[in-house]
Amino acid sequence: MSSNIIAIVGRPNVGKSTLFNRLIGHRKAIMDNVSGVTRDRSYGHGDWIGKYFTVIDTGGYVHGTDDIFEEEINKQVELAVKEADVILFMVDVDAGLTGLDEEFANYLRRTDKPIYIVANKADSNARAHQMGEFYALGIGLEIFPVSSQNGSGTGELLDAVITHFKDEGVEDPDAGIPKFAVLGRPNVGKSSFVNLLLGVERNIVTDIAGTTRDAIDSRYNAFGKEFIIVDTAGVRRKSKVSEDIEFYSVMRSLRALEDADVCIIILDATRGIEAQDVNLISLAEKNRKGIVILVNKWDLVEKNTNSTKEFEEEILEKIAPIKYVPVIFTSVVTKQRVHKAIETAMEVYENKTQKISTSKLNDKILPEIDRYPPPAIKGKFVKIKYITQLPTHNPTFAFFCNLPQYIKESYTRYLENSIRKHFGFDGVPIKLVFRKK
Ligand code: GDP
Ligand code: GDP
Repeated sequence: MSSNIIAIVGRPNVGKSTLFNRLIGHRKAIMDNVSGVTRDRSYGHGDWIGKYFTVIDTGGYVHGTDDIFEEEINKQVELAVKEADVILFMVDVDAGLTGLDEEFANYLRRTDKPIYIVANKADSNARAHQMGEFYALGIGLEIFPVSSQNGSGTGELLDAVITHFKDEGVEDPDAGIPKFAVLGRPNVGKSSFVNLLLGVERNIVTDIAGTTRDAIDSRYNAFGKEFIIVDTAGVRRKSKVSEDIEFYSVMRSLRALEDADVCIIILDATRGIEAQDVNLISLAEKNRKGIVILVNKWDLVEKNTNSTKEFEEEILEKIAPIKYVPVIFTSVVTKQRVHKAIETAMEVYENKTQKISTSKLNDKILPEIDRYPPPAIKGKFVKIKYITQLPTHNPTFAFFCNLPQYIKESYTRYLENSIRKHFGFDGVPIKLVFRKK
């Protein structure tokens, strides 16, 4: 878990999300979702003069009656305050002091963590002077007049905030957490799948399109695994905006694909694999992403004993020469193998990040080369001396040899298969390069 956490709390509409976006700058927001618990807190990462921090925006909840306020205070704010190192209690100088502000103050009085009052919407000096009335709340170390909209005052606020940080923090606390993209043609069950992971149907209140937050990643904790689903905003938003903004949704999926470690590509079992699906899979391969194929709506298919085998063969035939991709037969409706799907995506991620030592590689692969050496070309013999995995983000293996230009495509495939046979890079594109030695 990261350190240096700032929580922004306060009643609705004071400008929490605006400040949140300003503090995380160009970086991305992460929604934190834990299945079974309604949590609507956005997480983002920012930095200020050499210190990295995480900001939590508690603003994403449904605004309603006082009952809801009570309930939400218990859930969102309590969790955020518990996690936070510093609390920013935001009020609105334009609206002045309200009853809800006082309720918040009473609630916050219980914590002994450092609190600053952020008097927001102080866009002008005249407005900044109105912040005086908030001293009546009797809480907080200091009041900072800020305009989240134009940025004034936020530097002074951050100067004070970072004095409470013990260390410089971590640049990217999400590093090492697998990022999955859920992709597929319309209607295959993408949103049903994501909603099932979430455990609950939710209302997303933040309207995402057109704001700086137009790509929101969501952090999940389902089946005991922690992972991020990139850009589910596009998936969930559908219920609000009409569905056929085809172009927009395609662009979104491409971006999600690029951001992901593993692409979970969903097909519709009742339609089989179609040209668009094949394109998507080869795009994921070209971008060197991990790939898992889900054949969804399996509950609708009439089965005989060979169904899965035949289906899988058909898929592999269509996506040839790619043949390392796991295929899982799911039903989101009957919850069949959804757990297995996530487990497999995790495994693919692990395969993608594994590093094979040079000695292990040579122990296993050199004998394979001896058994079936590269064919001689124009009377010249290619001699592969040793193999090493390069320290790259995606699995890449360098083969050092005397005549790298004479290695043929078919031999490359043999070497790739040998690596897969011994080291199991299931679901992961691997690259082989030949270097002169
Ligand atoms: P939240 O509900 O607390 O997250 O509030 P939002 O960030 O959604 O902001 C509520 C409204 O206040 C939006 O219309 C913002 O554009 C506006 N707003 C936010 N910050 C400022 C500010 O510094 N000055 C002014 N004038 N308006 C602001
Ligand atoms: P998306 O467009 O890919 O996000 O697809 P949706 O999640 O909106 O699902 C499209 C339709 O297929 C909805 O009516 C779902 O209820 C239905 N659906 C999704 N998964 C399954 C499944 O596994 N079995 C069956 N029978 N229907 C499903």
